[in-house]
Amino acid sequence: MKKRVLVTGGAGFLGSHLCKRLLNDGHEVICVDNFFTGNKQNILPLLSNPFFELIRHDVTLPLQIEVDEIYNLACPASPPSYQFDPVQTTKTSVIGAINMLDIARRCKAKILQASTSEVYGDPEIHPQPETYRGSVNTTGIRACYDEGKRCAETLFFDYFRQYNVRIKVARIFNTYGPNMDPYDGRVVSNFIVQALKGEDITIYGDGKQSRSFCYVDDLIDGLVKLMESEDTVTGPVNLGNPTEITMLALAQKIITLLKSHSTLVYKPLPQDDPLQRKPVIELAKNVLNWEPRICLEVGLDKTIEYFKTIV
Ligand code: NAD
Ligand code: UDP
Repeated sequence: MKKRVLVTGGAGFLGSHLCKRLLNDGHEVICVDNFFTGNKQNILPLLSNPFFELIRHDVTLPLQIEVDEIYNLACPASPPSYQFDPVQTTKTSVIGAINMLDIARRCKAKILQASTSEVYGDPEIHPQPETYRGSVNTTGIRACYDEGKRCAETLFFDYFRQYNVRIKVARIFNTYGPNMDPYDGRVVSNFIVQALKGEDITIYGDGKQSRSFCYVDDLIDGLVKLMESEDTVTGPVNLGNPTEITMLALAQKIITLLKSHSTLVYKPLPQDDPLQRKPVIELAKNVLNWEPRICLEVGLDKTIEYFKTIV
């Protein structure tokens, strides 16, 4: 059935892939974005589609709109961009969630929140299941993002309990792929751009910290499966690729793939940088019949091809 779907943050990295996927699935898509970290290039191929609409709007302000489903992705995601204006970051997560939940409540629409593995903070439990409640430094430089996202999850569950809003909460782990901003400071984009240009590769700390990287197509598939699941499936559900890698190993892999002459340089580790991160994805496997299919080498190849066209 054709649905009218609102995607907030639709001009960003994940949002642009999601808009494309939803249009391909035959839906009408309304993309709302204030272009803080989004990019018109990401959605340029969609603008000629009559079933795609673009609204420049900040989600911290109320919006009147009639839709069947909402994917709430609006929020800067890279540490440098969410730390640029931390107060606005928290407002985007918290007030943005309230505004979107109010639309869902009024329209009886289903609403999905793009939450994050950052709700686990610097985790003491490894790997992280959804039952783990996290370890966030509430006064640190990542808290504007982490606590904003945690509060958004609380709002989702209170709208569910208090107003019967049909909610879905996805905890997204590090995702990469084409349409990432090459200069937003995230590790995959930094390393690929540096290796392509033959510049030094910047390892923060000793590089032994780990992450688990999911290719964007897999992640988008997980988001759509979660939205399409039964109303009883509210989440939170971890979505990510459980293959864990250290930043040193990631740098080496990218150097090898690109046959780059770049060398490693060591920079200070940012405050509260999580030491390790890896999702437990049993819930997504069991309830959504979802698991990632694209391995890191294949995903990095596709991402490198994209970056070659833009840097
Ligand atoms: P992104 O920065 O590329 O996209 C975010 C989009 O939201 C941008 O287009 C930006 O302009 C828009 N935006 C920001 N503030 C807004 C506001 N107040 N009003 C309207 N639009 C606003 O980031 P992304 O990687 O595509 O992340 C999308 C969502 O997924 C975010 O909510 C992020 O927290 C979440 N997430 C992403 C990852 C990841 O690895 N990519 C991991 C965990 C969670
Ligand atoms: N990182 C790094 N060099 C860079 C950028 C990031 O070593 O040029 C490290 C960063 O300190 C962190 C990891 O890579 O440990 C992932 O960073 P990113 O900003 O991509 O995501 P997040 O920390 O939010 O998982």
